[in-house]
Amino acid sequence: ENTINKIAAGEVVERPSSIVKELIENSIDAAASRITIEIEDGGKKLIRVTDNGTGIDSHEVEKAFQRHATSKILNIDDLYNLNSLGFRGEALASIASVSEIEVITKTENDKFGTKLYLSGGSVIKKEPIGCSIGTTIIVKNLFFNTPARRKFLKPSNAETLSITDIINKICVGNPNIKFKYVNNNKIMLTTPGDDNLKNTIRSVYGKNIADNLISISTQNNYFKIYGFVGNNSIYRSNKSMQHIYVNGRYVKTTLILDAISDAYKSILPVNKHAICFLNIQVDPKSIDVNIHPTKLEVKFENENELYKFIKQEIYASLIHSSL
Ligand code: ADP
Ligand code: MG
Repeated sequence: ENTINKIAAGEVVERPSSIVKELIENSIDAAASRITIEIEDGGKKLIRVTDNGTGIDSHEVEKAFQRHATSKILNIDDLYNLNSLGFRGEALASIASVSEIEVITKTENDKFGTKLYLSGGSVIKKEPIGCSIGTTIIVKNLFFNTPARRKFLKPSNAETLSITDIINKICVGNPNIKFKYVNNNKIMLTTPGDDNLKNTIRSVYGKNIADNLISISTQNNYFKIYGFVGNNSIYRSNKSMQHIYVNGRYVKTTLILDAISDAYKSILPVNKHAICFLNIQVDPKSIDVNIHPTKLEVKFENENELYKFIKQEIYASLIHSSL
């Protein structure tokens, strides 16, 4: 069982940023309105994610670290109606198998919170603790028991960049949540959590980007698209500033990236790429997010229509705004 977890960990837990992503997504699934992320040494020494979500019941805490333990799908139909970010019940088991973990959690039903320690996936200690409702998960000494994998980690500053990028993307995708990101005891970012996308973009990426956005809000029978696309005065030499969320989930789907490139073709200089922040809502039944464990790819039932719709709507907004 533990070997299986370590192998599975290779898929879900490539590097510190993938752990940060899984932990934040769990906090979002737990309906948190405040999430604080603290890292040290590029996440290799410490990752701590604290939320004010529902918490985990005292008698369920160990279960959360077992493989395929998920509280999010109860039957097979739920897989096709996926509203939560997690559903495989794999992340915590995988992370725990290659690190030392401390969990502090409390639900509104429990009088006391629970503190649980695990090392390499095994429970070391469980004790009651006084704390507020929500969950804190602390991941220490990543890959301490798989030295070969630890050696493969990039230098701390490179891992930090990757973590920062993921946090930025998640913040923008969740303007209703107040995020705080602390790196080596220094506050890197706070978002207002005021449910205003532009304010959130401003707090993450600054005034110049927030001031050069064109609003998009449109829908047809299948898709609803809303957010912002950059005008022709802001762009990048790669696609790293293309933020795409499908039903709230950050994705990197080739089809959508291509539609954006094609919409901007005659508008940006050659080899320059748009900046955008797009939310796409579709019937969860018409997408498949299960094709990759890190869940950045999504497959759409009506992909040709989606491509056309995105391209046409972005192009129309760009032309309209320049009139
Ligand atoms: P999944 O998210 O796919 O269900 P995980 O391994 O990420 O699987 O988490 C396992 C379970 O632990 C979740 O289904 C949830 O019940 C619980 N859990 C994890 N993190 C939190 C959190 N921050 N707040 C409340 N419950 C959590
Ligand atoms: Mg999860």
